[in-house]
Amino acid sequence: MRIPLLDLKAQYQTIKKDIDDVLIKIAESQHFILGPEVEKLEKNICEYLNCKHAVGVSSGTDALLIALMAIGIKPGDEVILPTYSFFATAGVVARMNAFPVFTDIESVTFNIKPEDIEKKITSKTKAIIPVHLYGQSAEMREINEIARKYDLKVIEDGAQAIGAQYRDGRNVGNLGDIGCFSFFPSKNLGCFGDGGMVTTNNDILYEKIKILRVHGGKPKYFHKIIGGNFRLDAIQAAVLNVKLPHLNEWSEKRRQNAYLYNKLFIDANLAKETGVTEFNEGNKLLLPKAVYENEKSLINHHIYNQYVIRVEQRDELRKHLTENEIGTEIYYPVPFHRQECFAYLNCRDEDYTNSNFAAEKSIALPIYPELTEQQIEFVVCKIKEFIIDS
Ligand SMILES: *Cc1c(COP(=O)(O)O)cnc(C)c1O
Repeated sequence: MRIPLLDLKAQYQTIKKDIDDVLIKIAESQHFILGPEVEKLEKNICEYLNCKHAVGVSSGTDALLIALMAIGIKPGDEVILPTYSFFATAGVVARMNAFPVFTDIESVTFNIKPEDIEKKITSKTKAIIPVHLYGQSAEMREINEIARKYDLKVIEDGAQAIGAQYRDGRNVGNLGDIGCFSFFPSKNLGCFGDGGMVTTNNDILYEKIKILRVHGGKPKYFHKIIGGNFRLDAIQAAVLNVKLPHLNEWSEKRRQNAYLYNKLFIDANLAKETGVTEFNEGNKLLLPKAVYENEKSLINHHIYNQYVIRVEQRDELRKHLTENEIGTEIYYPVPFHRQECFAYLNCRDEDYTNSNFAAEKSIALPIYPELTEQQIEFVVCKIKEFIIDS
C-alpha cells in the first residue's frame, strides 16, 4: 500500500468544481495582483481568526520579514526565537542584519521554552518570535508577560498553525503584536503556489504593513520608507477563498487521524501515553501531546499540521518505511544553533538538549485529512514490525 506523506490531489478532487470555476473567472478577468479576491480573503481571514486586520502577502517567509520591518528592527538588534523551527524563522532576522538569539524548546510541545527567553534578553533585544510548531500554540501567556516586562514586540510564526487556539480559546495570530501565516501547499490551508498573511490588531502597524507590501510607496511612487514586493496574487487568494470554509473540517480530520495513531500505538504496546519525553521499556515511541486538550472543550487545540513521533532508531525506521512506500519527513534535522550559516553566533550546543534530541529522534508520519483508517493501520503495523525486529 503506497502512502505518501501528503496527497494534495485527494483534496483537490473534493473541491475541484469550485476551484476550477474561480480559476477560469480569474483568467477571464485578467486581474492578477491584489484586487478584490485578495481583499475578500483578508476579510474572510479576519472573520475566521477574529482579528482586526489581515494583509495578504507573497509567502510565510515574507510575512515574517514584513513584520520585522514593520516593528522597525534595525541592524544589530537581537530577536529571540526557538532554535528548532523551519529555517525562515531565523533567516528573516539575519536578513535584517539583526542577530537571531536561539532558545531551546520544551520537550513535550516542541515549542519555545519560556524560561529560556528571559535568560537571553539583553539591552539589544527588540522582539520574540514564538513558533506554533506542528500546529499547536506556544505558551503565549508567559511569553507575552516577559515581552511586557521588557518592552519587546511579539511576532507569532503561525505558518503551521492557522486556526489553532491557545488555552483561552483565542486563535494564534491574534495573541501577539503581529501574526504570520503561510499558505505553502503543505500547510493546513494551502494555495496553488506561494502565499502568506500578516495579521494584527494594531491600526498603526496595519497601515505600515500595507505600505511596506508595495515597496513602501504611499502614495504610489512617493517613499517615506523602503519596503518590497510582498504582494499576494489573485489566483492564490481565490483558491484560498474556496478552501477556507473547509479548513475546520480538514483540521478535525487530522486530529481524528492523530487520535487513531495514538490509540493504535498504545494498543500495540509501543507507548503508554502521549507526551512522554524519555524512552523506556514501555515507551519505545514518544507520541505528540495536545497540551491544551483538557483545558476547555476547544475545537482547535491542536491542528496537527504535522504528526511527529520520536523513536530511538529513527533513520533505520525511516528507511524501513520508505521501503514499504510510506512517506515520512524529518522536521528538522539541523537546529539553527548547528547550522553552518549561524556559526558566527558561537552558540553552545549543550544549551539546546531538547532541540538536539528532537533533531536526532523525530520523524513525521502521514497525517493529511484524506487518509483512511486502513492506511493508518498499515503505517502502525509497519512501525511495530520494525520495532519488534530491531
Ligand atoms: C512554512 C513555514 C514558514 C515559511 O513559509 P513559506 O510560505 O514557505 O515562506 C515559516 N515558518 C514556519 C514555522 C513554517 O513552517
